Amino acid sequence: MPELPEVETIARDLAPLLRGRRVVSVHAARQPPVFVGGSLAPRTIVGRRIRDVSRTGKFIIVEFDEEVRLAVHLRMTGNLLFNPPAGPVRYTRATFGLDNGARLVFADVRKFGRMRVFRGDARATLGVGIDPFAPELDARLAELVRGRRTPVKSWLLDQRHIAGVGNIYACEALYYAGVRPKKRVGKLSLRERAMLLTALRRVLHKAIRHRGSSVDDYVDAEGKAGRFQNSLAVYGRAGMPCRRCGTLIRRIVLAQRGTFYCPTCQV
Ligand SMILES: [Zn+2]
Repeated sequence: MPELPEVETIARDLAPLLRGRRVVSVHAARQPPVFVGGSLAPRTIVGRRIRDVSRTGKFIIVEFDEEVRLAVHLRMTGNLLFNPPAGPVRYTRATFGLDNGARLVFADVRKFGRMRVFRGDARATLGVGIDPFAPELDARLAELVRGRRTPVKSWLLDQRHIAGVGNIYACEALYYAGVRPKKRVGKLSLRERAMLLTALRRVLHKAIRHRGSSVDDYVDAEGKAGRFQNSLAVYGRAGMPCRRCGTLIRRIVLAQRGTFYCPTCQV
């Protein structure tokens, strides 16, 4: 599933291509509907100029004038493709025509991806928490986790706390922080919290530099795969030796998600 680095890569690539363009048409699938839960009809964006493209949590946000926004969540297998070669694109769920003749296509094999159009603040409307890169997170983390008995990994996946981290990068950050995924988040020491935040930011930055991880179906707006899957330390490496100590990486299931860790490096 695309997480922060993959969504950030797409948003950064799309911004210069879409900024200043007008949307001239919207065609969307109805079975099942791809537009769900927005306060405005999808046609609201027709005729509007795109001001910018950004990311909030794991949502790609296309910003229009008068605070109108289109939020795109790729979920498991969604891909947002800029001007793919002419002809029908497989698994198309929505197509946006632009005033320069280009098109933006949302394709999604498993059809879980969703979009919505709304007016106003994206973070509040989408109900997502603080960004992992937000400077104020350092000061707020202690208060966010105080008294929480949730396993730290499950806590990281809950988008209402920190937004943008999913299964892959939660596993990786916990490995670099030396923290077991099952440890209760409220029990982390001051030092462990600081290590976790540093590890999380480092791994996300590094993944953005590598244009994301292509496990499952992720490709960028040009249809190209990311490269970070080759650098993963624990995710998907069950039974293989830890790169640091040689102990075999373990896989457990936590909150119904495959969770990978090194039993020696993570305590
Ligand atoms: Zn190890």
